[in-house]
Amino acid sequence: MEDNNKPKVSLISKPANMLKTVYTACRTCYSADYPINIYNSTDDTEKMLKLVERVISSGHYSTIEHIQVSFAISNVSRACTHQLVRHRHMSFSQKSQRYVKEKGQFDYLIPPTIDKDPVLKQKFIDFMGEISNKYQEFVEAGIPAEDARAVLPNATATSMVASLNLRELIHLANLRLCSRAQFEIRMLVKGMCDALVTEEPWLKPYLVAKCDRYGYCDEDKSCGRKPKLEELVKS
Ligand SMILES: Cc1cc2nc3c(=O)[nH]c(=O)nc-3n(C[C@H](O)[C@H](O)[C@H](O)COP(=O)(O)OP(=O)(O)OC[C@H]3O[C@@H](n4cnc5c(N)ncnc54)[C@H](O)[C@@H]3O)c2cc1C
Repeated sequence: MEDNNKPKVSLISKPANMLKTVYTACRTCYSADYPINIYNSTDDTEKMLKLVERVISSGHYSTIEHIQVSFAISNVSRACTHQLVRHRHMSFSQKSQRYVKEKGQFDYLIPPTIDKDPVLKQKFIDFMGEISNKYQEFVEAGIPAEDARAVLPNATATSMVASLNLRELIHLANLRLCSRAQFEIRMLVKGMCDALVTEEPWLKPYLVAKCDRYGYCDEDKSCGRKPKLEELVKS
């Protein structure tokens, strides 16, 4: 298992000229000039950011769909990736449990609530060992990996390459950085956002939980960090 029982995320692909591409898309909507002239203009970063911010805040989201980014993800549980693949505007290539047989003890993630309790943690580890033995028993009996995997747990570690456009990444961040989201997908999505913000700091205000973007909480059970929309409307 990899270090720290945490998702490992690397940004492996993004356009070199992200802000300029979004700016060109935004400005094309309001300019008589050709897009290529806008793209080749010497407009400074401040000017570009001002327009991009205005356009995104107005919900004119086609302008951010031109940007595609890809991440290499490993050391995440199948429970976590099962949640990630619910996002329908993403593309995935995931390590197959049909083609890749587990050899020896399979890698797995221990949820922090179990990890911090030494007694429960040991029980968890022992149980993973029992499952591994059962999996190997089936494989050695000639059962194909695609069927033997039926005994593997949600905690089994997996890897994938995940790609998405900027609109979907912002949506993903808004939903999955919320404290109502499950801890592991929160860590994974934070890793994705951090990796991109390191290279494109102008995206930081968008790659946040929805309450940080909109100033209110629309969750049924709120963590209380931001007011509920009803409270704002009343006041
Ligand atoms: C805290 C939390 C708890 C959750 N709990 C559960 C649960 O208990 N059970 C469960 O099954 N799921 C659960 N989910 C998953 C959730 O229901 C969504 O499937 C998942 O978050 C993907 O969100 P999405 O549909 O907005 O986004 P995406 O699939 O990423 O799509 C982005 C946006 O595109 C549009 N869109 C995409 N497809 C369609 C379509 N077919 N028709 C119309 N518009 C579309 C929508 O505007 C959508 O918001 C949970 C999610 C969160 C964040």
